[in-house]
Amino acid sequence: MSGHVLLIGSDAADVSTYADRLQEALFRVTIAPLPRPNIEDQYDCLVLTPSADCGIDLVNTANIPALAIECDAHTPRFSLGHIIEDRMHVSAHKRELVARIRAMIRRHHAARELKLREGTNRALGFNEANDTFSHRKTCYVVTRAQTLPPVLQQISNAGAPFAFDLQTPEDFQTTLARKKIDAVVIDDTDLGERTANTLLDLRAHPNTRYAAILCVYGQMHRHNAFESLELGADDVIVNSDTDSDVLHRLTLHWRAKDTNDALRRSNQIGLYAAVTDTLTGLFNRRYAMTHLHHLCDIAKSKNGSVTALMIDIDHFKQVNDTFGHFAGDSVLMAVAETLKSTVRASDLVARIGGEEFVILLPDIKERDAKRLADRLCKSVRKMKLDAITGSITISIGVSRYDPTSLISYANSDILEQADTALYTAKRNGRDQVSYYSQF
Ligand code: GH3
Ligand code: MG
Ligand code: MG
Repeated sequence: MSGHVLLIGSDAADVSTYADRLQEALFRVTIAPLPRPNIEDQYDCLVLTPSADCGIDLVNTANIPALAIECDAHTPRFSLGHIIEDRMHVSAHKRELVARIRAMIRRHHAARELKLREGTNRALGFNEANDTFSHRKTCYVVTRAQTLPPVLQQISNAGAPFAFDLQTPEDFQTTLARKKIDAVVIDDTDLGERTANTLLDLRAHPNTRYAAILCVYGQMHRHNAFESLELGADDVIVNSDTDSDVLHRLTLHWRAKDTNDALRRSNQIGLYAAVTDTLTGLFNRRYAMTHLHHLCDIAKSKNGSVTALMIDIDHFKQVNDTFGHFAGDSVLMAVAETLKSTVRASDLVARIGGEEFVILLPDIKERDAKRLADRLCKSVRKMKLDAITGSITISIGVSRYDPTSLISYANSDILEQADTALYTAKRNGRDQVSYYSQF
């Protein structure tokens, strides 16, 4: 991942050293003595080098995430907050700078992407409940020590919005096997060598893959921080950090985790929308075709069968012509509901055309399929509808895919055969079931 970095500073030699490092890591870099207002469209992030001589107000107008490189760890020029999102010491390894910028850009791209998706999903009518950041969450601290690392002790005492749960690596393995974890702090001052393996394990485990993961270091091991970031830690903190900094970092990564969770949910909504019919909520033709191939393949490998019911509403054009299109729509919804509530949970009901539906029934006996088809005709005939007078009827064509039969045909032939049978049902007077001749 790369990005466009605006590097701020007045010491030309120093700034160009940073620029070289970032360009080596494939970032695009622009150098300026001061941030300019309204630049958010051009740059992905802002880096304030030690010679950057600007106040927080000026940085604020930039409205893009900023990282400050500080000379004095004890009296930094900027405090962490929503403007200065991250900070590192000038002596940190150059790979730490790259890792922090990458993570910062990734977080912001995720947040921007989520905003876009939320807008689209809202427009599509998929409103999602917002996961608010109000309840107290559990942050697991993995350590062999008997007490919290000092830096967490401070914020725990100060009433952090997190409940810390101290666990040995062994206990944590048990917790991990049981449930999804939101946040973990690995105490490297105590685990030492094991930190790298623990990090890799956590990023690979399904219950912590997306968790916020931070490492606590003693001042001595601070120079290893970049390795942890590269291995998948979201951040590293040191015991000498102030409680407000640590609180900021924990909150930041927890929020980033929530954003990523929401993005994944939004992807699922998108996938759902792509395979669903908006009027009836049934699966659409695309999904039904893919599912049919899947069922036929399973039937082939397990000597099973697939039965298809092709269903068409009778004289539906007349319904529209007599009662209007909206009444027609409500009939479609009611028929969909009746079909769905009559079949087994493992059966698939899809709307594959205007007033055409298909039902795919894996491993059903011929006799049961016939009974079900008759019951469907009856249930639809008996539907009571406010939007129209008189009753609605359907015609059904049935065919069966049986890989053990001597006749060999392609997976999709089953639908053509069901369609042929449907045509016969229509010709014979509608409101009835017809079976494909080999059935
Ligand atoms: P048959 O018994 O032979 O199936 O006759 P039919 O009138 O049902 O069949 P035809 O194919 O002549 O007409 C189907 C009608 O379905 C025409 C079309 O306007 C209507 N239709 C298709 N999609 C929708 C929809 O989403 N909403 C509504 N209200 N009508 C739809
Ligand atoms: Mg039709
Ligand atoms: Mg019809």
